Amino acid sequence: MIGIDLGTTNSLVAVVDGGIALVLADAEGRRLVPSVVHIPKNSSGGVLVGVPAKRSAHLAPATTFASMKRFMGRRSSEITAADQQNNAWQWELHGNAPAAVHTPHGPMLPEELAAEILKHLVSIANTRLDTQVTRAVITVPAYFNDSQRQATQRAGELAGLKVERIINEPTAAALAYGIDKLHTQAKIAVFDLGGGTFDISILQLQDGIFKVLSTSGDTQLGGDDIDNSIIHWIRGKIIELEPEFGFTPEIHQRIRSAAEEAKIRLSVDESAHLVFPFLTPDFSFECELSRAQLNDLARPTIRRTQSHCQRAMMDAGLEPTDLDQVILVGGQTRMPLVREWVNEVFGCREFEESHGSLRVGANPHKASGPRLNTSTNPDEAVALGAAIQAAILSGALKNVILMDVTPLSLGIETFGGLMNVIIPRNTTIPVKAGEMFTNALDYQKSMLIRILQGEREKAQDNWELGQLTIDFEPMLKATARVGVQFEIDSNGVLRVLARDTLTQVDKIVEIRSAVDVDDLAVQEMVESSVEHAFSDLAHRQWVEATLRAQQTLDAIRNGLTDYGDQLTDEETLSIKDNINQTLAILASGNTESGTGPLRDLKVALDSLDEASLPLADRMMEAISEQFLRDQGLIG
Ligand code: ADP
Ligand code: MG
Repeated sequence: MIGIDLGTTNSLVAVVDGGIALVLADAEGRRLVPSVVHIPKNSSGGVLVGVPAKRSAHLAPATTFASMKRFMGRRSSEITAADQQNNAWQWELHGNAPAAVHTPHGPMLPEELAAEILKHLVSIANTRLDTQVTRAVITVPAYFNDSQRQATQRAGELAGLKVERIINEPTAAALAYGIDKLHTQAKIAVFDLGGGTFDISILQLQDGIFKVLSTSGDTQLGGDDIDNSIIHWIRGKIIELEPEFGFTPEIHQRIRSAAEEAKIRLSVDESAHLVFPFLTPDFSFECELSRAQLNDLARPTIRRTQSHCQRAMMDAGLEPTDLDQVILVGGQTRMPLVREWVNEVFGCREFEESHGSLRVGANPHKASGPRLNTSTNPDEAVALGAAIQAAILSGALKNVILMDVTPLSLGIETFGGLMNVIIPRNTTIPVKAGEMFTNALDYQKSMLIRILQGEREKAQDNWELGQLTIDFEPMLKATARVGVQFEIDSNGVLRVLARDTLTQVDKIVEIRSAVDVDDLAVQEMVESSVEHAFSDLAHRQWVEATLRAQQTLDAIRNGLTDYGDQLTDEETLSIKDNINQTLAILASGNTESGTGPLRDLKVALDSLDEASLPLADRMMEAISEQFLRDQGLIG
């Protein structure tokens, strides 16, 4: 079984051979296959993949397709004007239909083009391994949503592969990093900045078990954005000289290649010379780009990674000093500015530059803080990890277990329309958790269980994933006992089981969308929970206080019915006054954000407690008398 990193920019194929993970090279010895497909005009079936395809981008940009991963599993409506402007090909966009591109073979979906890349990788593997490869593990960014993962799976199937597992890229990278350090214990951040996507994951490694503590990222952030800034800069320079200059798709493509080349060169050199002979028959152009200028152009893009890093750390409940290592993954992390930035964001102790000289980071005298680890080849780590996962699945490697996390909290609606969390956000899966619930009303015949996902306190503000109804014998309120259990298996399938403990009758629903949730939706949900944190908390406190008040009122009313005759008129009157006062506050409700009514309710309940002390005394006496009588201790 092979492991495949189907990257935005570059794709790789790797295997574990004799216990060692390695990337397979093509006939020319190249291990990185550019994720580019060229479909020649007037050809019936032949396509070019990789380096030859990338070369044809200059000559035939409209039929050469790159960075297609950015559009995998996306709808037409999700393709922005910028997406259309930055690419030379024609889109086939129709309302809500999946986004497709126009090719000489007719409209094609991004996964159909990805399948061509996968076929090419399989052919490399077949040649190198001298077998027919049929099974694979393919990686995707952690924040790919369900439809993007499905598109990836389909690409594999179109290439004739049985896709055994889709795994997250940062997790794969950590696997590649940790596989030979099984006996260490470490907390690691994986910072993956590739051509088109950014992922940050916080992982814990212990006794051969990888545990993802949290993940965050952006599926639309990467080296391409830096290239676009450079292209914009070059075009500006050209327009300074030739205000009327017409940029054809071919010229745009030449500028794009030169921009990326210069960027890569500037990871080592301090300055790069860009030359464009004969952009038009009578116009040639050249200019100089320094590393400092590149840094200025790239900084806004690189800065966008910070909030994701902070969120991932917050979700993992860690401070940067708790981390042992920060692993760099993705070709773009070879850029010195990215390393400096990561160093600063995570407060790393020191870092080693790619050419070997030790550079002191932002805080040279700091003894604690993670170490920036660049020992894993940033371009290969993901593919190696995929190969390792493949080996684990096929049983060739043992003692390593891979775990994922829940992107959002899962729970059910409980009394007062509140969210009752059963499995909190960022819990490692597989996981099983349960709670006991009871009936809210007398003689209730059934209980509706609404399964919710989200971070808000009010049930209605969360997403409802499903429902189930459990029937039971009618009985007094708070006497039924219904156990609710949530279980998420290693494939991310949520199974909710509800059991009436009296009849032992089970009801089960299965929900497949609980773990693979759209990244934007997760982000919005988390943001809205932060935004509404105060009003949500006030609401929960109010509802909970109301429920407690109702219980107290019920108990006191029952007490009055049974033992009221043993109280003085004055005592009874005082209790009733206090009951009315409490009821009045309950009836007036709360005003969302204010805590005034909550305070009033507390004061009223304290006062009610005090007024009902004589009643409580009578009740206690009666109960202990009954107890002693039952025990035969008094007559
Ligand atoms: P992906 O995972 O998206 O396929 P990669 O990990 O292969 O991407 O990274 C590709 C990106 O890394 C491209 O934007 C490329 O320009 C950039 N890159 C590759 N090598 C270097 C380098 N030495 N310096 C700076 N950027 C680089
Ligand atoms: Mg990658």
